[in-house]
Amino acid sequence: MTDSVLHEAVGNVSEIIKAEVFVHELPVRRVRRHGSGDVAGGVRNVFVRLEAACGATGWGEAAPWPVFTGTAEANFSALKHYLLPAILGGHAMEAPSLLADMDRRLVGHPEAKAAIDSALLDLAGQQLGAPAWMSLGGCYNRQLPLSVSLADPEVEADIDLVQRLLSEGVRIFKIKTGFLEHKDELIRLEQLVDAAGANSSVRVDYNQGLPCFDARRKLVDLDSFGFTFIEQPFAGRYLEQLAELRDHLKTPILADEAVFSLSDLHRTVGLRAADAISIKIMKCGGPRAGAQLAAAAEGAGLSTYGGDMFETAIAHAAGAHMICATKGFDLGCEFYHSTYHLERDLQSEPFWVKDGYVQVPDRPGLGIHVDEDRMRGEALASCVVN
Ligand SMILES: [Mg+2]
Repeated sequence: MTDSVLHEAVGNVSEIIKAEVFVHELPVRRVRRHGSGDVAGGVRNVFVRLEAACGATGWGEAAPWPVFTGTAEANFSALKHYLLPAILGGHAMEAPSLLADMDRRLVGHPEAKAAIDSALLDLAGQQLGAPAWMSLGGCYNRQLPLSVSLADPEVEADIDLVQRLLSEGVRIFKIKTGFLEHKDELIRLEQLVDAAGANSSVRVDYNQGLPCFDARRKLVDLDSFGFTFIEQPFAGRYLEQLAELRDHLKTPILADEAVFSLSDLHRTVGLRAADAISIKIMKCGGPRAGAQLAAAAEGAGLSTYGGDMFETAIAHAAGAHMICATKGFDLGCEFYHSTYHLERDLQSEPFWVKDGYVQVPDRPGLGIHVDEDRMRGEALASCVVN
């Protein structure tokens, strides 16, 4: 699209002239235990800043998890060498075309692509003076029910956390499982369900922690708890086995590690392997791809949940705008890391959690205020692409 056509269509836009990338190690408050291993000490995320000729900027974040999607090091390299050079000279208003070009240039790396999609949404919003949810089609719901995951190796610590969360209005809890002997797991589940109380929605997530071999024998014991869903009991590649398991359980099955893309969803639906999916911008490559997944899931009769990785407010914001603009997402969202898990964020104000809901703002772009001094001053590595 030419500059003159863009100017006629949307007024004051200008091309992207510079991109910067920053890698950060973000300390976490406590050890978290999952079926796929511990997260302790800190998480390593990558941040993108785009700058247009008019001076407007846009921020995005790649939050990889090495056992799930990829690594910060690979995403830093993908952004620096393959993806960002390709969007210099482009316009934020051409995002669908720029994102399609990225898929042609580089396989995989959905977290890096999510960072760029988020930064393009932020930049477009700054240039238009409109919130990112406008660029995604308008507002469906600006108050998103928050789910907080319980993953402390010490159950007493999680019981204390549940009490705090209940007092703050949170009514959705997801218990991470798959790391104890089954009989001990059942005792822990009972303790946490009791703490959450009868008015909460409680779910469990195995993060692929069970072998297929005896998953059915263990999971039928969970039916009596009345959990909202059981998430990803074993490795995502075993979709046929997931379909077979689903036939033997009353509790709905939610697929997470099994569904990154539209084609993954197509296969999951074809095998009748799940009742719901978790949509994460870090799996599918950004808010625009996530909204497409939600529409496809709804068409297949599946419910959707707004998942995330170990993200700061920047990626939380991109995911929240996606959900705000999209029908579906009837199982809540889990943008809680900034508020309850990270020692400190790179945003200069608290993330928008209030009374158990994420409250999506109407400020331009993603609506975030990045602490640029800390972003630049505390980065482990950085580069400029221009
Ligand atoms: Mg999960």
